[in-house]
Amino acid sequence: MRRGAAAAALALACAGCAHGVRDGVRTLVTPTTAVATTNGANASLILAARTDAGVVVVDLGWRGAERALDGALASLGATRRDVVAVLLTHAHRDHVGAWRAVAHAPFHVGAGEAARLAGRTPHRGWIPRLADRLRRPDLPDARVRVREVAGDTALVFGRDTVRAFALPGHTAGSVAWLVGGVLLVGDGASHGPLDGRHRPARRGFSDDAGAARRSLARLRAAVAPHVVRAVCTAHARCAPADPATWRRLGG
Ligand SMILES: [Zn+2]
Repeated sequence: MRRGAAAAALALACAGCAHGVRDGVRTLVTPTTAVATTNGANASLILAARTDAGVVVVDLGWRGAERALDGALASLGATRRDVVAVLLTHAHRDHVGAWRAVAHAPFHVGAGEAARLAGRTPHRGWIPRLADRLRRPDLPDARVRVREVAGDTALVFGRDTVRAFALPGHTAGSVAWLVGGVLLVGDGASHGPLDGRHRPARRGFSDDAGAARRSLARLRAAVAPHVVRAVCTAHARCAPADPATWRRLGG
């Protein structure tokens, strides 16, 4: 009962938006990137990307996450052992499900997010806070090395560079990751329940939805010098990084 209530609380704001994966996310599938989604209708995104120095994975899904992760890796000809880094957009439970499968790799989170990932600091959004009270989240334990990235940061993997952009608001340490021209904004953006179009972060799920909106406006300027093909949310919605998308995000 408590388990069902926790899931219901998390799914509440997305009850009418069971679109699953749309074509936009499929465009991310290239010889060097693969995607998978978990958690049925809410479709938590996992992205795996080959770099010059091993495979990086952005976010780790929720229910059925290990199987989904393995599928994404297999389509790159990779296995769990090839993963050299995990990049998390934020520490909510529905984006860290496969953590055990890649616990050997360092996990990178934004400044202030490590305590959330360890469950030491509660989330402030009322829905995740309630869900965590109803059912303890399955979060990475002490075997995982967690590194916080401060502000906007570049991580170098051989000849490839992955960029982190601070995106505080949905959670204190939310981060947008730019990997191979794809900007993964986590739950720092959401999508409309009817049209599926990008929207600012959802209030009930967020620490501070106003701050999240301001962060998106700042993000647009911060990524301007870089090539960005698509903007993807943690719930598997991708859109071209064009002025219309940024306008919907308030940027
Ligand atoms: Zn979230």
